[in-house]
Order: sequence, then C-alpha cells, then structure tokens
Amino acid sequence: ALSERLSRIVKEMRGQARITESNVSDMLREVRMALLEADVALPVVRDFIARVKDKALGADVVGSLTPGQALVGIVNRELAATMGEGVADLNLAAQPPAVILMAGLQGAGKTTTTAKLARHLIEKRKKKVLTVSGDVYRPAAIEQLKTVTAQAGAEWFPSTPDQKPADIARAALDHARRHHFEVLLVDTAGRLAIDEALMREIQELHAVLKPVETLFVVDAMQGQDAVNTAKAFKEALPLTGIVLTKLDGDARGGAALSVRSVTGVPIKFAGVSEKIDGLEVFDADRHAQRVLGMGDIVALVEQVTAGVDMAAAQKLAAKVKSGEGFDLEDFLEQLRQMKQMGGLSNLIDKLPAQLAAKAGEADLSRAEKDIKRKEGIICSMTPTERRKPDLIKATRKRRIAAGAGVHVQEVNRLLKEFEQMRDMMKKMKGGGLMKMMKRMGG
Ligand code: GDP
Ligand code: MG
Repeated sequence: ALSERLSRIVKEMRGQARITESNVSDMLREVRMALLEADVALPVVRDFIARVKDKALGADVVGSLTPGQALVGIVNRELAATMGEGVADLNLAAQPPAVILMAGLQGAGKTTTTAKLARHLIEKRKKKVLTVSGDVYRPAAIEQLKTVTAQAGAEWFPSTPDQKPADIARAALDHARRHHFEVLLVDTAGRLAIDEALMREIQELHAVLKPVETLFVVDAMQGQDAVNTAKAFKEALPLTGIVLTKLDGDARGGAALSVRSVTGVPIKFAGVSEKIDGLEVFDADRHAQRVLGMGDIVALVEQVTAGVDMAAAQKLAAKVKSGEGFDLEDFLEQLRQMKQMGGLSNLIDKLPAQLAAKAGEADLSRAEKDIKRKEGIICSMTPTERRKPDLIKATRKRRIAAGAGVHVQEVNRLLKEFEQMRDMMKKMKGGGLMKMMKRMGG
C-alpha cells in the first residue's frame, strides 16, 4: 500500500536536507507504483506524478520537516484535491420537480442507484420522489425499477417498451408537476459498450428533461476501462456528478481517481451493497485513504515527530535495526512514546481506514489502562532484569508481581508480549511504525 511505500521513503530520506531531482524521483516511483496497483489509469497517474513533482521541486521545506515528510504532505494534499475535496451533495435547486438523470453503461448500477437515491432523498431530505424508467429495450428493466422503487418507499411512473424515451420523459415530467413531486429520478437504458445511438438518445432525454443533476453511474470494478467510458459520457452530456458503484466488491477503487480526473465533476455517492440502503455520500478524503491505504499519514508523521523524543527513538531504531539487544527498557520506552503521541484513540484516527476499523473494535480506554499496568510491571523490575529479561524466572516473577500489585499471570503475559515484539522487530528490521502500532493498539 501507498502508506508503507511512503513511510519507507520518509525513513530513507531522513538524512537528506533538501528535496532534489533525484530524491523526489525515488519517492515518486513508489507513489506511481501504488497508484497503478490501485488501478488508476496510466494517463491519470502520469498527470498526477507530474503535478506532485512540480510542487515538490518548488516547495520550501519548512521548519522541522524532513524532505520526506514534506513530500508526503504534498502527495497527500494532491491526492485529496484530485479526488475532490470534502463532500458534494445533490443539487436540488430547481423549479420542482428537480430532475435527476441517470447515465451509464448497462450493468453499472443505474436502476439500483435510482432506487437508493429515492430512498436517500426521502429519508435525509424529506422529499416527495417519483421514479420513471426510460429503458425501453428491456421490459424487465422497467419492472425492476418498479420493484426497487417500492422498496424505497417512493412512487413509480409507469412506462412501456413501445414508447419513445423522450415521450416517457415528457409524460413523467407532466405527472410530477401536476402531483407536486419535488424530485423526478429518470433511469435510462445502458449498452454494454458506448454507442452512438445510445448517446443520441440520452442527449435527447437531457434536452427534454433539463435535469439539475446528470449523474454518471460507473462500476468501480471497471478499473482502467472506467476512463474511456467516463470520457465518452462527458463528451456527450454535461455531467454534474458521479456515482461510483460496487465499492463493496474487491475493486481497488482507483477508478475514483481516474473518473474524477477525466470528467472534472465530483463523485457524489458510492454504492456499497446491493441493498436499498447500500449508498453512501462519497467522502473523498476517506476514499483516498481506503483505496490507497493511506491514512492521514501526514498528521501521523507530524504527531510522531512532535510527540517522540527523537534521540531516544533513533537509539531505539538503531538497536532494532541490528535486531539485537531489544530489551524491556526499550519496550517501556515504546509504551511511553505511545502515550506521548496523544493516546491510542487519537492515533487510531490517523491510521488507514481498514486498519483503524480493526483497531476500533478493541476497547481503547482499556487498552490505555493496559499500557499503564505494563509500565507498572516493568517499573517493578530491577535494571538488570529489564536489560536481561531472560533472567526473570519464577521467584523474580512473584516479586515483580507483588511490587506492581498484579497477578503473576500478568507478568507472564507482559513477558510473552515483549518476546513477540522483539521477534517482530527483528523481522521488520526497524521499519513499519504502522505495523507496530497495529499490534500494540489492536
Ligand atoms: P443498470 O443496468 O445500470 O441499471 O444496473 P443495475 O442497477 O441493474 O445493477 C446491475 C447489478 O449490479 C445488479 O445485480 C445490482 O444488484 C448490482 N449492483 C448495483 N450497485 C451495486 C453496489 O453498489 N454493490 C453491489 N454489490 N452490487 C451492486
Ligand atoms: Mg437498469
């Protein structure tokens, strides 16, 4: 994931004073790989990298930031900006009914999303909603919309396969006006691939309906192909927003970045299940994190440098790098640094979403208390015991337990955890702050 690639670079760049052509290329190579792995389209990746490079070379590295940290900051900001910042809700500012036109390939999720949006508008914005299907090529599609509209608790306007889509649109619009519907959602036909006739048809619908929102519905699993589809729809229609569906699948989600860059319009919603309530308002920052495993790595880097005694951390890192000599003093030092970094709950917020979700399942206040108890146990050991934990046998354990006011089992548990940590650190050879925190927090 990007976060791992970036933290490695931050570390490697630690000794360097400036952002240069050569160290920036190393970092950007990692970013490029991460984006391609996430299925972002190649031209989009190229543009992105070029923009970051431009900004990085012109940037002053301020204050205590290392070039690596400064670069991570630039990448992070650019990513969020490309993905679209913040949250963009539906625009309903129109003489009622506000019309929303759904566009996209067959199977993208238009019909499902139409019903999900109906439900969203009823529940969250208390609107009176009518749906209609312009998909005259597949009678089953009209029935499908009828069924899901009922599930959404909205009303459905009948249409039949022998009608022209534009006529259906006019009739639905008229009905909506006369019955004071506030929103009219218009589902449309899709083709398996982009074709002229389909584009002309939906352009005609657009002319008749004058929608306030024209949403391009796209399957996140399309990956690289999403770019071409998005381009074609963008050229045919004045899109106002995107709905990215099937994000619950194993899509790597890079499509979001691609589609957003190509169309220039915001991603407004994300489909996250087949069910009627499987629609989320799209949050660009969160998505960037989810897709790329990014987390708020900048904040994390800042917090870590602010909270941690750098000299102690470096000493520790050196020890860990050698894989030897990691003792209970170091373990204690780590526990203390975790506390200094603002508490576990605070840190969890900064982790990549998937990780944070896992960690969030744990009881954090208990985890924090747990750290204090561990500190207590280690403090009850003699300096020699801390440096040579292998010395700690039964009698010593009983004495330590009594001193710390805990059961012997807890001392055992702590020693076990220490050993696991030591093993893990040998494996990591000093890297992987994230991994370390995952272990300790989750
Ligand atoms: P349309 O041809 O564009 O109208 O696509 P449909 O709305 O009929 O959806 C095609 C298939 O994708 C259906 O089986 C839907 O249940 C499924 N689908 C749509 N959106 C989502 C989503 O967000 N998540 C999942 N898992 N399935 C979805
Ligand atoms: Mg459909």
